Amino acid sequence: MELVCCVCGKVKRNDEWIHAEIEKNTLLSHGYCTKCMNVALSEIEEMKKEQNKEDTQKDVA
Ligand SMILES: [Zn+2]
Repeated sequence: MELVCCVCGKVKRNDEWIHAEIEKNTLLSHGYCTKCMNVALSEIEEMKKEQNKEDTQKDVA
């Protein structure tokens, strides 16, 4: 089983994220590498802020 970053396609090997060839018939598990996880988390934070803004506006209206 290989853990593959669904954003940049890097593969986790020995706790490091590297660009590597994946052999055929390998079971893949998709996730986020450290870098893309941080990007995704900050995007989620931004989205939450936007949603909070919208919710507040709805409450006012
Ligand atoms: Zn990545």
